[in-house]
Amino acid sequence: MVKVILTADKTLTSEYNKHVFLGFAACAPSFIPTWLYELIFCPPTPLEDGRLRYAHCGQRKIEASLLASGFSEEDVAVVPPWLLNQTITKDTKVIGITTHDPLGLGPASTTFSQLGGKEAYTSIYFRRLISTPKIRDYGVKVIVGGAGSWQLTDERIMAKLGIDSVVIGEGEITAVDLVKKAIAGEKLPMIVQGEVAPMERIPQIRNPTLNGLIEIARGCGRGCRFCTPTMTHYRCFPIDYIMQEARLNIEAGVGIIFHAEDVLRYKAKGFTPNENEVVDLFTEGRKLTSSIGISHFAHASVVAKPTLIERLSEIMEVGSRSCPFISGQVGIETGSPRIIASQMKGKVKPFAPEAWPDVVRESHQILAQNKWIPAETLIIGLPGEKPKDVEQTLDLIYDLGKYKSLIVPLFFVPLGNLQGKGFFTLKDATPLHWQLLGACISHDLKWVPSIADENLKAVEMNPMKRWAIKQVIRYIDRRLTPYLKLMAEGTNPLTTLMTD
Ligand code: SF4
Repeated sequence: MVKVILTADKTLTSEYNKHVFLGFAACAPSFIPTWLYELIFCPPTPLEDGRLRYAHCGQRKIEASLLASGFSEEDVAVVPPWLLNQTITKDTKVIGITTHDPLGLGPASTTFSQLGGKEAYTSIYFRRLISTPKIRDYGVKVIVGGAGSWQLTDERIMAKLGIDSVVIGEGEITAVDLVKKAIAGEKLPMIVQGEVAPMERIPQIRNPTLNGLIEIARGCGRGCRFCTPTMTHYRCFPIDYIMQEARLNIEAGVGIIFHAEDVLRYKAKGFTPNENEVVDLFTEGRKLTSSIGISHFAHASVVAKPTLIERLSEIMEVGSRSCPFISGQVGIETGSPRIIASQMKGKVKPFAPEAWPDVVRESHQILAQNKWIPAETLIIGLPGEKPKDVEQTLDLIYDLGKYKSLIVPLFFVPLGNLQGKGFFTLKDATPLHWQLLGACISHDLKWVPSIADENLKAVEMNPMKRWAIKQVIRYIDRRLTPYLKLMAEGTNPLTTLMTD
């Protein structure tokens, strides 16, 4: 008798062909039909008795919190969106939906859907999920949370989509309270700030996560003005706690991805990494599996402790066939020390804002020497940005051309302390912005084939999928090359694209 169903849209219900970073394709404009997108980037994850064998880490934390608060395994089911209609019964009282980008308003989706002129997959699939007929037919209460829930904090949008409650921030305490209220038939508050959970209220996962992703720390504390306030509370999980979650995943057939906003700062007291703690963490992980990945790190941490990168590469035998390189997401955001000082001075600590471009260059050198390939973001149109700031960023991107990496330019989206400022849109783009966009895309086109090649060699994959991925890369390269010439001159190529 399932009372509570936890689900997420299809873009969050996949192992992404064993490459977690392929998950970012969900933010791309829907150029290829959804069946092809699903085949290459987002195949469905396996099921066990109608429930997900692997689920989003956030869903697993809510599932564990519900079980810890007295719900039984029969009460709670984590199911994929394509089984929602058949799982909902008259006994179902609540559906909890985890979101990342439900309306396609996140930085990556807004950027690429404007450039591509098509809706992002994220919002297409969220719409499909929220339109599941039985949700309305059975009057099930809908509670939405996750990193993208800020996009739904408008009562008109909630009413239109049939959402009863939106949780912003952490869910371990607040989401469980809401579920209990819904089951008791109480009226739910529409928009709720999630209570920050103390470590003892964050239970360990009970079931495996997608790609083996587990949290090693929560929050950040660097205080970038465009980031969400929930990032202010920085906490690290004990190593035993992390290893128990890792073991559970490994026994279920996946590896480990350590997740934190900066994995290198695990157990650091300030902004300089605690080398021994991070080395211990990876050493313990390596005893369990050779398949260890990381989600995010920071350039400032790399430069503050270069020996740490070297030691981690040794532990993980980076350069071997099973681990050709390490990749993780990392923010460059800007090449302008002035913008760093005004919007994100914590990002460069323990260094001073003026040092930022040199920190980024030095970090790339250290990473390249140790076979780390950063997947980087850049923000275009931050408030107060001047042409000189864009020029400095452009210079930095040109300097980074010799380092194997991916640089993803993102249009500014007003979040955190910058809520209320305008979104950056294509009509705000100056010739310098076009040059910068073109420089990033050219950089990526230069490196994507070799990164994909190394990556594809390291995993077992159906030759048909391997071939399809290579064809998509070649197609994108061919399609974009003529337009990059226009962008290098500072020209908007979209009018040409549209008439092509
Ligand atoms: S470093 Fe990243 S996670 Fe931390 S505050 Fe800045 S943007 Fe947020």
